[in-house]
Amino acid sequence: MMHTFNRRRFLQLAGMASAISVLPRAFGAAPPARVVVVGGGFGGATVAKYLRMWGGDKVAVTLVDPNPSHIACILSNLVVTGALSMDRITLGYSALEKRGVKVQKGRVMAINYGSGTVSLSDGTALAYDHLVLSPGIDFIPPPEGPWDPNVTPHAWQAGPQTLLLKQQLASMRDRDTFVMTVPKSPYRCPPGPYERACVVADYLKRKKLIFAKVVVLDANPSIQAEPLAFTEAFNFIYKGMIEYVPNATVLAVNSQTRSIQTSAGDWSNVRALNYIPNQRAAAVGPSSSLNRGWPVLNAQGFVPVDPLTYGISGYPNVHVIGDACAVPASEGKAVPKSGHMANAEAKICADAILRSLNGESPDKNITTNSACFSPITSTTASWLSANFNYGDIYDGVGKLKGKGMHRVDLGEAPRTNGDNYQDMFTWAEGLFADSFA
Ligand SMILES: Cc1cc2nc3c(=O)[nH]c(=O)nc-3n(C[C@H](O)[C@H](O)[C@H](O)COP(=O)(O)OP(=O)(O)OC[C@H]3O[C@@H](n4cnc5c(N)ncnc54)[C@H](O)[C@@H]3O)c2cc1C
Repeated sequence: MMHTFNRRRFLQLAGMASAISVLPRAFGAAPPARVVVVGGGFGGATVAKYLRMWGGDKVAVTLVDPNPSHIACILSNLVVTGALSMDRITLGYSALEKRGVKVQKGRVMAINYGSGTVSLSDGTALAYDHLVLSPGIDFIPPPEGPWDPNVTPHAWQAGPQTLLLKQQLASMRDRDTFVMTVPKSPYRCPPGPYERACVVADYLKRKKLIFAKVVVLDANPSIQAEPLAFTEAFNFIYKGMIEYVPNATVLAVNSQTRSIQTSAGDWSNVRALNYIPNQRAAAVGPSSSLNRGWPVLNAQGFVPVDPLTYGISGYPNVHVIGDACAVPASEGKAVPKSGHMANAEAKICADAILRSLNGESPDKNITTNSACFSPITSTTASWLSANFNYGDIYDGVGKLKGKGMHRVDLGEAPRTNGDNYQDMFTWAEGLFADSFA
């Protein structure tokens, strides 16, 4: 059931991220527990920060990421349109270092779960007592190519991809078409592709290009998030400019000719092809290895976890948070893959690790929540909020199927407006600071 929230209530929830009872830690005089965190995005940065904040010198935290800073996907659609610069979404690790997190530049190439070590690209091996994996997503290539994301960018990981898409959008002229895809659910940021369609259409409108349009090829049967806001945007604000095509399964992508074939039709030689592929957990081992380095994956390529600890069954000291994990949930009420949710999961995971080091059981009284703000024009935005409690979860006909995170609320902004657009920056800055500062 959809509930509408008032703005004050929404901002309270957006700032809260997760509610868990945090107790002062009382460890013995043991050497610090070694926690290795893989991935310095929203999940990884938050768990590293909160482990040190709550665990102090009882935990030695090493955060591994190949990049010197994290470029947030959040707000990155506004970098594509030129409304924001890259530095607004570039988040450094210096504040984490001040908290005592050791930041190690490198890419994890393999994990030896038996001996408890991770191997980095430069040959370094790091031993861990607890391992937290938050590497985000990888892309599943289209059935047929040649597909090259450096020619036709997805821009679903922010950075050079964002700038390439920005250039391609800027090259559009009268009568040109921007073709984009929406991946099959589950994927990173459910409202994100529809938001991109809107801000791209807004850009083309403001540039006064004649008959330029956006084609949205959705692999899903319908709009996956904020249906009120996006249906209104597609049918009224961008009437005649955005063509929405549901049930469009991608069959082939040719980056050289900027052409795409789908079950709902083909588009050739378009000016900008923004193919956002289907997604799975990012690899933590060689692509040739079993499950690309993961001990276990579900049918959709994500890692099933226990929502009380974010641990993997059979691997009690290995935790997976953020977009890479699959949280048990009620049918049709999945936990979204969002930065806000990754931040909430990270806090629960940090608390569970510290409790386990203290010989305590994980807290069962946990909630998580997620928020996404979606710019619809250059001055207005919509939002989405979802709240989850730990407890019973149900299948599609309401039959109990076990324990997990049950969605108790789903709210969409009652209207798209300028206040939401301003609140979007307040919310994003709050989340950036809670994760990285
Ligand atoms: C256009 C767009 C808009 C979005 N808007 C919102 C929004 O409004 N609200 C919201 O909450 N979310 C939003 N999101 C989603 C959000 O960005 C992701 O859900 C979030 O980043 C997930 O966090 P994560 O820690 O799982 O992964 P990431 O933040 O992607 O971090 C993964 C990190 O792991 C590192 N890594 C990967 N592999 C390895 C390896 N082998 N070794 C070491 N490091 C590795 C990467 O370098 C990266 O830094 C948006 C996403 C997009 C694309």
